Amino acid sequence: RKPIVTIDGPSGGGKSTVSRLLAAKLQFTYLDTGAMYRAVAYQCREQGIDPDDNARVTNLLSMLRITLLPPDPGEDDVRVLINDREVGTSLRTPEMGMLASRVSAMPLVRASLTGMQQEMGAAGYIVAEGRDTGTVVFPQAAWKFFLDASPEVRAHRRAAQLRSKGMEVDEQALLQQIVQRDKEDSERSIAPLMAAADAHIIDSTGLDVAEVVNLMLRIIQE
Ligand code: C5P
Repeated sequence: RKPIVTIDGPSGGGKSTVSRLLAAKLQFTYLDTGAMYRAVAYQCREQGIDPDDNARVTNLLSMLRITLLPPDPGEDDVRVLINDREVGTSLRTPEMGMLASRVSAMPLVRASLTGMQQEMGAAGYIVAEGRDTGTVVFPQAAWKFFLDASPEVRAHRRAAQLRSKGMEVDEQALLQQIVQRDKEDSERSIAPLMAAADAHIIDSTGLDVAEVVNLMLRIIQE
């Protein structure tokens, strides 16, 4: 088994903070796969491409180069370069999340990004975070986690996260969006959001970030 940690789960489960901290503790590289789906969504928006337009999305993918750089000190989010141009927080809006969810249901988008992710993780020593990293991208990972929490807690965490980026949020609307996005991510036929059979399922509803990270470290060091 490869020295790879996978962390999957619905949005707002605390995946990004936990992944960043765990990667730092293990001295592994943090691979944020959601950022890559957001990058495709961002490019569709920029170029006025309908995500259902197969020909244009194929063309977009063939020219797309995504670079992920470590988060700035004190930040959770990896820095994302699309064709060498850095995109800031606009990648992280709930609207971009919804659009990412739409493009991520396209088989050709998944095939392309899965290939890129496997290349990025080929040498191992990564913490991969997303929806299908334990099931599809790195089925041979040594340690798999599925991080869940109640929808209310997830909406609350997500709201705090967005506010810390200076965005205005309506928590009630966010809760509805989260429930909707999880439903779409779980019900799609391709790479649905689900725990791998060999994943450790962690419910973080009553846990803080440090407790989740320590729990994972204990399992990894067993
Ligand atoms: O994790 P994040 O909220 O940035 O992901 C945005 C969207 O990208 C998710 O709602 C999901 O639809 C999609 N995604 C995916 N597979 C992944 C990571 C993200 O389908 N491995």
